[in-house]
Order: sequence, then structure tokens, then C-alpha cells
Amino acid sequence: MNKKNILTGDRPTGRLHLGHYFGSLKQRAMLQDEYNTYIIIADVQALTDNFENPDKVRKNVREVVLDNIAAGIDPKKTTIFIQSMIPQIAELTVFYSNLVTVSRLYRNPTIKTEIGQKQHLFGSGGESVTYGFLGYPVSQAADITAFDGALVPVGEDQIPLIEQTKEIVRKFNKIYGDTLVEPDYMVGANSRIKGLDGNEKMGKSLGNAIYLNDDEETISKKIMSARTDTNKIKKDDKGNPDNCMVYYYHKLVSNDSLETINKECRNGSRGCVSCKKELIKNMIEFLKPMQERRKYYEDRPELIDEILRTGTAKALEKAEEVMKRVRKNMKIDYFS
Ligand code: ATP
Ligand code: MG
Repeated sequence: MNKKNILTGDRPTGRLHLGHYFGSLKQRAMLQDEYNTYIIIADVQALTDNFENPDKVRKNVREVVLDNIAAGIDPKKTTIFIQSMIPQIAELTVFYSNLVTVSRLYRNPTIKTEIGQKQHLFGSGGESVTYGFLGYPVSQAADITAFDGALVPVGEDQIPLIEQTKEIVRKFNKIYGDTLVEPDYMVGANSRIKGLDGNEKMGKSLGNAIYLNDDEETISKKIMSARTDTNKIKKDDKGNPDNCMVYYYHKLVSNDSLETINKECRNGSRGCVSCKKELIKNMIEFLKPMQERRKYYEDRPELIDEILRTGTAKALEKAEEVMKRVRKNMKIDYFS
């Protein structure tokens, strides 16, 4: 009965897409029997770079829960909760911030990349980066450790953040005695899904994503405009599937016919248009069961409220148990 805990989650900044599914959701769904799984809807973290846009964050909390359930998360087995409703996370963040230097945060590769991507907010050289954004890895360490998270299934972009958490945990345990569980990350076989345009990351904000809830027409339009091998111009030109985004997605959803597709593209007997049409058909089929599950819960919003209320209550209990340990070992448990 001694199951380990998983802590993982999403920022409520938009609906979830294929990148999220193959990068994290699929693993979460597979592991929910073997581990006690906590899924955090990270609204506090979303606000660090969306603080001027509270409506967007609020609206996407339920969307992200729907996407998780659509992808196979069973709310009876898995605890789904809202980050801002767990004050222990904010409390831990304050104590952890003593254990991290500002220069270490600036050097964190994920933070570096993201500051570079958000020049409109933080200036072209990151000179206007906020204290809150720079510090979100500290808050993420609190998210994980407040639930004794031993395993964190994430996409590749998150690895430096988990490394930072490990450092904080080691330092904390060294100073205050063995208190916190040190987590490990887990990246799946598809830890970074590329965008329709060939960009290295399919991203919510990059306009290059197929969303789990896209309708048939949207899927068709997106796939018809996906990047193919630029040297294959005519239908019977020989192509190189390795330079083609359509083949890249076939690899995710067209298992049975993959070999044929590869061969026909290489020997020039397959045109890009029919290849795209085949992908559209397979993609729609692949997403269909998820979309049906989503629809059931979309039509019953009270169920989502109940899942979040129950999940948050359970998460509060667990975080307080960990917090008691922390307060005791930090010698700030004054009246207990
Ligand atoms: P944002 O731009 O708001 O940060 P995001 O698309 O990065 O959005 P998150 O909510 O930050 O999404 O990430 C949720 C999880 O999905 C993380 O574990 C992240 O690594 C993973 N993930 C996101 N995009 C991809 C991708 N293209 N391939 C694989 N994993 C991904
Ligand atoms: Mg992200």
C-alpha cells in the first residue's frame, strides 16, 4: 500500500494540444494506478507572466481539467486541484527562497529561454523581469514537495526546473534535517513534440498546435497547411519523410500503415495531398474518444466543479501534513 506520489500539472494558459498529450498527459494516465497522482492546475504560475490577464487564466482552469479527463485521467483515482487554493505552497515558497541565489535563477536554462521569448513583458535583455517570474522555479519546488512528489512526468523543457527543485530539497534537508522527498523527472519517448510549422516545440502561444479538442474542419485546415519536404514538388517526386511534418505526425497516430507511407513517399508513388488526407482521417479517429469523453463533462459543468472541490480539499490535507513536518524541523512550530 506504500505507493509513491506523482506531482504534475499544467498552466491554465490555454487548451491542451498534442504536445501536452504525448509529452505528459499520456504518461500521467498510464501511471495513475501505480502512483498516488496529484495534478496541479498552476494558476499562480500562469499569473507570473499573465498577471494583466486574470480572465484568461480563470477561463482556462476548467478547460485544462476537461483536457486532462479527456486524455484518460480518472478523477476517482487522481487528485486534481487548484494551486492558489493551497496556501501551504505560498508558505513553502517563502522558506525555499532563502535557499536559492538570484544568479542561479538567472542561469536556469528554462528561465533564460522563457525570458527571451517574453520580451514584450520583460524587455529585450530581460531587464524588466519581475521578481515573481524569476522566482517561479522556487514556487514550482514548493508545488512538488508539498505533496511529497517523488516522480514528475514532464516534457523536456521542464527538466532544468526539476533539477532546481532537487537542489533546493538537498539544501533544505541538509540544513533542517531529513524532511522533504527529492523528486525525479520522467520524460516520455516523445518529450518534445514539434509544431505544424516544423518549430522545435508545439506551443500554445506559437500558433502551431493541433489541440485535443479541435473539430474536424480545423484539423483538416491545419494538416493541409503543414510543412512537407520542400524538394518534393510534384506528386510523383521522390520525397524524404524525415523532412516532413506530415510524416512526423503519422508516426504518432498511424502505427499500422507507417511502413507503407514511408516506402511510398520515398519511391514517389504517394502524393502529399493524399498523404495529408490520410493523416487527417487518422488524426480525427485518434482524437475522437478523447473528444467524446470531453463532451460528456462539458455538458455537465457541475461535475468539474465537484472534482475540483474534492481534489482541492484532499490536496490541502496532504500539504498541511508536509507543512507540519517543515515547521517542526525549521523550529517555527511555536505552540504545538
Ligand atoms: P505555456 O506557453 O503557457 O508555458 P506550454 O505549452 O509550455 O504553455 P505548460 O502548461 O507550461 O504548457 O506545460 C505542461 C506540460 O506539457 C509540461 O510538462 C511541458 O513540458 C509539456 N509540454 C508542453 N509543450 C510540449 C511539447 N511541444 N512537447 C512535449 N511536451 C510539452
Ligand atoms: Mg510551459
